[in-house]
Amino acid sequence: MKIRLWGTRGSLATPGPETVRYGGNTSCVEVVGEDGTRLVLDAGTGIRRLGAILSEESSRVDVLLTHLHMDHIQGLGFFRPLDQPGQDVRVWGPPSSTQDLGTRLGRYLSPPLFPVRLKELPCRLTLHEAPLEPFEIGALRIEAALVCHPGPTLGYRISENGFTVAYIPDHEPVLGAGCIAKDREWISGFELAEGADLLIHDSQYSLAEYPARVGWGHSALSHALQFADKAGVRRFVTFHHDPDRDDDALDRMVNEARMALDLEMEIVAGTEGLQFESESVAFSATM
Ligand SMILES: [Zn+2]
Ligand SMILES: [Zn+2]
Repeated sequence: MKIRLWGTRGSLATPGPETVRYGGNTSCVEVVGEDGTRLVLDAGTGIRRLGAILSEESSRVDVLLTHLHMDHIQGLGFFRPLDQPGQDVRVWGPPSSTQDLGTRLGRYLSPPLFPVRLKELPCRLTLHEAPLEPFEIGALRIEAALVCHPGPTLGYRISENGFTVAYIPDHEPVLGAGCIAKDREWISGFELAEGADLLIHDSQYSLAEYPARVGWGHSALSHALQFADKAGVRRFVTFHHDPDRDDDALDRMVNEARMALDLEMEIVAGTEGLQFESESVAFSATM
């Protein structure tokens, strides 16, 4: 499995000289299985660059949305495969008891907010509510579960040949308690992250910022690390960086966490362009 980060910013795209190292694009992660199956996790602004390099010959791509907040869908209308006749694009999203996925997505992808309607796109587009029991796309096994964040929101766990990546970009597992619960039954997202080789997780706030933002659906980095440690994660990737956090501040935040907490797991600062490979368990920055 190969995993590549195309956008790691939270809430709002934040391009500029002060964010050039970590990147300013919002949530988008590519997962490619050994048989070539390609998943795109979220359609933030980072999806545009990914779409630009996909060849027209790869005839199917599956976009798995965690939820429909703008920072996770804003790039969808600019994803090139949607404009290619014959492309099989399947978009998966969270279930809702009130409106189907097409109706919910169409509130953004239709005039006056966007010039083109979903049904006018030339590709073969199908929309699916992600099942909450395990399913497969190609050789990739996928588990989706609802997690603690405003509105129906999923996290994903993707496995192949004994390697597992968990993706929970918007998540507040300490809500209501202020720390991670002792009993795993009470921890949002625990089963998604348990024993994962790689966990890409919300790390939007510092501990000092968190009290003024309780209930906003995001994590302080140290809470996220407690969550990952409890779940026995091997490598943690910081994600959904606050738009107000520049590169130097992100460096400090991650370095302080590494020094303050005596954890077995490796902490990697989520950087646009970073690529992970399951085979070598190595990673490299390929901006
Ligand atoms: Zn978000
Ligand atoms: Zn959100």
